[in-house]
Amino acid sequence: MIEMDDAIRIVLENTQTIDKTRVGLGDVLGRVLSEDVRSDIDMPPFDKALMDGYALRGAAIASASQEAPVALDVIEEIPAGNVPQKRVEGGQASRIMTGAPVPEGADTVAMVEDTEADADPEKVRVLAATETGRNIARLGEDVRVDQVVLQANAVIRPPEVGILAAVGHVDIAVYRQPVVGVVATGSEVVEPQHKPKPGQIRNSNGYSMVAQVLRAGAQARYLGIVEDDVDALIHTIGEGLETCDVVALSGGVSAGDCDLVQDGMRDLGVEVLFDRIRMKPGKPLTFGVKGAKQVFGLPGNPVSSVVGLELLMRPAIRKMQGMTDVHLPIVRTALSADFRQTPGRKQFVPAHSVQGKNGAWESTWVGHHGSADLFSMARANSLFVVNAELAHVKAGEELDLILLERW
Ligand code: AMP
Ligand code: MG
Repeated sequence: MIEMDDAIRIVLENTQTIDKTRVGLGDVLGRVLSEDVRSDIDMPPFDKALMDGYALRGAAIASASQEAPVALDVIEEIPAGNVPQKRVEGGQASRIMTGAPVPEGADTVAMVEDTEADADPEKVRVLAATETGRNIARLGEDVRVDQVVLQANAVIRPPEVGILAAVGHVDIAVYRQPVVGVVATGSEVVEPQHKPKPGQIRNSNGYSMVAQVLRAGAQARYLGIVEDDVDALIHTIGEGLETCDVVALSGGVSAGDCDLVQDGMRDLGVEVLFDRIRMKPGKPLTFGVKGAKQVFGLPGNPVSSVVGLELLMRPAIRKMQGMTDVHLPIVRTALSADFRQTPGRKQFVPAHSVQGKNGAWESTWVGHHGSADLFSMARANSLFVVNAELAHVKAGEELDLILLERW
């Protein structure tokens, strides 16, 4: 039996980043860059008007006011997308639209709100001074040609999709998403479309595991239910090892006569690196490797399966696809009520936690009925961590709190 921290370390020491691939802009959300991305242009690519108004020389309107407007000759109109043809001299202005290039000679854009029409349609009256240089974004002020705009290992969120588009990066080098094969084991387990007969239960784990795998950024391949039979297990784990990067099994890892997952793993040449963790829930969690492939045997109890996947498999899945931030965030929390446990194993307790206005977290145990209570997990947004040696944590005492990803 090993400690949780050692289990996490062993999993990550045995996790390699997988190969690279390329995707288009439509498929890049959530993916991880495998190379730095540089801009192929200056941004903005020209001096650009930030307001609708008049491009002019700031000095020409320095004395302008409501009482003493300055009349300028309007020499050109420049809609966005057009290139200015005329140079602006003192006493002149070009009507300009937001996003259009500022003409030569002009150093300022006066907002249309600071102007009014003149009796002469070829002129404009400026009613206020504008500080020289205002309302213009300068060429290259955001980014220079060849500048790195996104670094390797960045996770692409919606704003990064926009940046990739802006720098013309349409064929993007990313890490391949790991493929995780999901297997539910147990002769009592039936698919959800069937009403369980006496002694049977529905396969909830297989589907919640697929969902967790997808949330961790990987692809999931559902490999079905396997009865508690070593040959059947060898067949399906073998299929998973051939077609997937990771095989995740639920059930069949405890000490019972029907718990044959470890036997199946060993028969296929999987090196089992641990098969017991001093944690609650989830003690019989099993982890093995065959080359770069990994096999996780998660306990069948639904809460154990959810917690084990989040705390041990999720970091591996994230590391495989190049993410550097692999662990769930940890904060400190106070408990809203006393909590007692039998000392011996580090406990990860499903909790509903809220952050007060002062930033402090407070956690309430969601009160599950043992590790089979799937419904408690749906009320939890976090896990508070009670160290193995503690028997009693008083209300208000502080503990570590693991924040689950928003489900
Ligand atoms: P095991 O780890 O195989 O001993 O299973 C522990 C408990 O979890 C048993 O009560 C099983 O019936 C239950 N269980 C096992 N597999 C699943 C599953 N796929 N979905 C829901 N519950 C399961
Ligand atoms: Mg079982």
